[in-house]
Amino acid sequence: MIVSKILTQNIFQGMRYVNKAIRLILTKFERFYYRIGNRKKCYVCQRTFRRFTKYQGGFIKMPKIVEMLKIIGSDPDNFGCAYCSAYDRERHLFMYFDKLDLWNKMKGAKILHFSPENNLAKKITSQNPEEYVKANFNPRDESIKKIDLTDVPYSDSTFDFLIANHILEHIPEYKLAMREIFRVLKNGGAAILQTPFSKLIETNFEVKNIDSNATRTFLYGQFDHLRVFSERHFFQDLKDAGFELQIKKNSELFTEQDCIYYGVNSNEDLIMVIKN
Ligand SMILES: [Zn+2]
Repeated sequence: MIVSKILTQNIFQGMRYVNKAIRLILTKFERFYYRIGNRKKCYVCQRTFRRFTKYQGGFIKMPKIVEMLKIIGSDPDNFGCAYCSAYDRERHLFMYFDKLDLWNKMKGAKILHFSPENNLAKKITSQNPEEYVKANFNPRDESIKKIDLTDVPYSDSTFDFLIANHILEHIPEYKLAMREIFRVLKNGGAAILQTPFSKLIETNFEVKNIDSNATRTFLYGQFDHLRVFSERHFFQDLKDAGFELQIKKNSELFTEQDCIYYGVNSNEDLIMVIKN
């Protein structure tokens, strides 16, 4: 009895190792395969390759709600760079910041960057800002300050520039976060607030008190999203927080060909808001 139990345990353990090894080999092979060719280019590291890595199996594997509500956000089919791993939403910001010369706004400025992307953080640092605060609700290391965006520990009118790229959809009291962002910005200061939303719904879709990842994935398209924003509702909330909207249309700055080549979502405009 005991012998058979130990044997079974060992077999299961062995199978787990074999599974893990196969997955690792497949991932390595996939990376290698993705790098052959030059149909795509990463705007961040400037390398060319065959294709970007997918997010969790790509668009076809996304929860149905994403397609039903035509949620505009990350592009799951063109997600990570095959070399530097920069995500599409980070690459897209590089493109916008170059085109609009927003890097210039950062020289000598005070900047708050929430959930900072590595490549973006490096580029911002190289602009010599007066102060650059990298923040997260759950910081991964000591270079990042623990900050709750609904209760920012800085006095009014501190920052010239604030970046929260795909953050507000994770925050329960997002309107409070919008008001905090407004409060800590200086007059004339700008915030970049990329957030996935749907143009098909008039108001946000949010069911209170869901504590299951599976249910959130089913309802909102991702396990850690707390709602599906309606574009109309989201923009109105930003105006109610006091912001002037300066949405920069992707279609006015880049061609469809650019977006396909660089693997960014051509429907995702730059959501820039100004405190005036
Ligand atoms: Zn890259």
